[in-house]
Amino acid sequence: MAVWRPWHGCHKCSPGCLNCYVYRTDERFGRDASKVVLTKEYDLPVRGRRGGEPAITSGETVFTCLTSDFFIEEADEWRVRAWRMIRSRPDLMFYIITKRIERFRVSLPEDWGEGYPNVTVAATCECQSKAAQRMPVLLDMPIRHREVVCEPLIEPVDLSPWLCGKIEGVIAGGESGERARICRYEWVLSLRDQCRAAGVPFSFKQTGAHFEKDGRVYQIPRKYQHEQARRAGIGTRRAHEEEDDDEN
Ligand code: SF4
Repeated sequence: MAVWRPWHGCHKCSPGCLNCYVYRTDERFGRDASKVVLTKEYDLPVRGRRGGEPAITSGETVFTCLTSDFFIEEADEWRVRAWRMIRSRPDLMFYIITKRIERFRVSLPEDWGEGYPNVTVAATCECQSKAAQRMPVLLDMPIRHREVVCEPLIEPVDLSPWLCGKIEGVIAGGESGERARICRYEWVLSLRDQCRAAGVPFSFKQTGAHFEKDGRVYQIPRKYQHEQARRAGIGTRRAHEEEDDDEN
């Protein structure tokens, strides 16, 4: 797994943004997370190492834009080159999570067609109203690989109206941080059951900091949240276990 953060900073735009990891981290370092800036690793996918090897090894899944949103307005011009870099690395799979799927077409390359085969786009659906808003848009966009991320899961979500053959996977997880909202196991199980009924792969990525099961709330330190979710053994696909905190 590789991580590419071409730009950094974001604006809160959704209930799931309330306790955004990017804001929390930047606050700690005295930075303003609402400023969207290009990073030093903007050209990482096309960079090489000494000896000629690419900086990102062939075959990797590249988690893209974990400290911003790939489709944020400030990046509309930067995204033109970002798409070119993505196109130039068909040996990588770029995984993009967004809360701005409605902006997907802005700055899309002319040769995009039905989608580059090396791009997966996952729309965040952390609550029912956002699922109702984003799922029809996600299904309507020309994307080869579509997934849904229910993270941070802050209430029960019914995805079943949209779980058709076009959705390749659903990932669920709780919220991290001191102010995290509770994630209930029954909500996760419900999503798992919806996916099972629709034949869509499901993974429970992490519990979040406050996890309720059988009426009891567990406070789970960050380092155990992925492991605890894995132990539940309710996923049908490998979760992105090593993935950093993504907040999109
Ligand atoms: S990074 Fe994600 S969670 Fe944070 S403000 Fe942006 S869209 Fe919201």
